[in-house]
Amino acid sequence: MSAPKLIVGNWKMNGLTADSKQRVDALMAAKSAAFNMVLCPPATLINALNWWTKDSALKIGGQDCHAQASGAFTGNISAQMLKDLGCTHVIVGHSERRQYHKETSAEVAAKAKAAHEAGLIAIICIGETDAERTAGRANDVVSEQLAASVPDCATVDNTVIAYEPVWAIGTGKVASSDDIKGIHALIREKSVVKAQILYGGSVKGSNAAEILHLPNVDGVLVGGASLKADEFLAIANAA
Ligand code: PEP
Repeated sequence: MSAPKLIVGNWKMNGLTADSKQRVDALMAAKSAAFNMVLCPPATLINALNWWTKDSALKIGGQDCHAQASGAFTGNISAQMLKDLGCTHVIVGHSERRQYHKETSAEVAAKAKAAHEAGLIAIICIGETDAERTAGRANDVVSEQLAASVPDCATVDNTVIAYEPVWAIGTGKVASSDDIKGIHALIREKSVVKAQILYGGSVKGSNAAEILHLPNVDGVLVGGASLKADEFLAIANAA
């Protein structure tokens, strides 16, 4: 049997205690040798989710971390703190962080390094914008971000790479199977570490099977559809 697919839900800045408990209860019933599931809730819910899911196979991740372990960085959270709460994963370099917080690939690499030092698996996001794609620069942008965002300490065990074309995130537009195959093959070829490679960008129950069974697609990173338990389960069950 092939390796289990990695199904990651990024809740972004969504979720209060009551609605999250209902969603997590529905997801905890989900068990299959075909997938591993990681939920990345807002930081305010990490403790609760770890408690609710302690007897399940669900894993919990952060949505971002600071590059330093501690210090005078008001409002930030370190990788060590996420580990302390029971997280196993952390997303770094999400396009919303790169866009709204002006994070560079060098900063993303520093965050991934901090995650590794804390014993977390870093899910490193890369992907081109619509303008870069239209200019025919998708391959170059992905190659540059890959080279600059993955730190030297990355290994197959502590790193996951997520290809998320920015124009496909939250837009309902999904990259074509040919585009996904092409970029994932490029990442596989150029990556110095044999990490799992996820696709992210408007994945839902109806398109998950096709995406998840493309070559070099080891799983999916899901935003909007991870906020609905039924839809997220449909994606996982397509693995
Ligand atoms: C994301 O936020 O990483 C994402 C892929 O969002 P969506 O699934 O909503 O496009």
